[in-house]
Amino acid sequence: MPFKIGCHLSSAGGYLAMGQTAASIGANVFQFFTRNPRGGAAKPIDKQDVKAFLAYAAENGIGPILAHAPYTLNAAGAEDRVREFAEATMADDLKRLELTPGALYNFHPGSHVGQGAEKGIELISDMLVRILEGFGGVPSTTILLETMSGKGSEVGRDFGEVRAIIDHVETHIPDAPLGVCLDTCHVWDGGYDVVGDLDGVVAEFDRIVGLARLKAIHLNDSMNARSAHKDRHACIGKGKIGLDALARVINHPKLRDLPFYLETPCDLDGYRAEIALLKSLRNFE
Ligand code: FE
Ligand code: FE
Ligand code: ZN
Repeated sequence: MPFKIGCHLSSAGGYLAMGQTAASIGANVFQFFTRNPRGGAAKPIDKQDVKAFLAYAAENGIGPILAHAPYTLNAAGAEDRVREFAEATMADDLKRLELTPGALYNFHPGSHVGQGAEKGIELISDMLVRILEGFGGVPSTTILLETMSGKGSEVGRDFGEVRAIIDHVETHIPDAPLGVCLDTCHVWDGGYDVVGDLDGVVAEFDRIVGLARLKAIHLNDSMNARSAHKDRHACIGKGKIGLDALARVINHPKLRDLPFYLETPCDLDGYRAEIALLKSLRNFE
């Protein structure tokens, strides 16, 4: 398998522009927001642009693309209005993603805002069930729950909460297209020792969630110490996780074939340099 590495890109110029930008910085995958990260209406999709992108991606070996839901969505909110907005937005995103088949769609499970994790898990799961039942068939997109740092009342703060959401959805929809995106900064901030015991963290993920569910890695360093529950990303090798540990992540036999997406505080030149650095640290098979 080729090393699948890329970063978050602006979607302002459309799909083809993202594909070309990715290629220009040495990336073969990329992530983008489906709409303004703070929410709101999505731009109408330019079908010609999508068509041109799909041809370009096939020719240049780009993909899978990872669409990130606005981070302000809260499927576990206490107010009906908040939850309804999350549901309508996700349903619309999934419909639009059918134009780029086989995409990944990542979302932050939500924050229970004092209702308790159990209630949050129920609200998130029920929302996913309604979206999937209302979709009319099985989406070609795989929906990814992102592992969170446990900041505030975030749900998905440990592998058990992620598993609970999957279990709940699967009791209603056994073949639900659900996976997980593991964010190295978030799990570190959440308390998992990806520096000292990566094998142990991978084994625990496998035991609780199952590695077959793991579809993507957000590769980030962290500004904070383990278990800080802060969620502040650092550039690769410039944080508390460090370059050696991140090199072990991209080379880990159970992780190395996954696509890696950088979400570090970088401009394009910074991403280009990080991608080159990581490629130089990639072991041969
Ligand atoms: Fe995220
Ligand atoms: Fe992330
Ligand atoms: Zn984050």
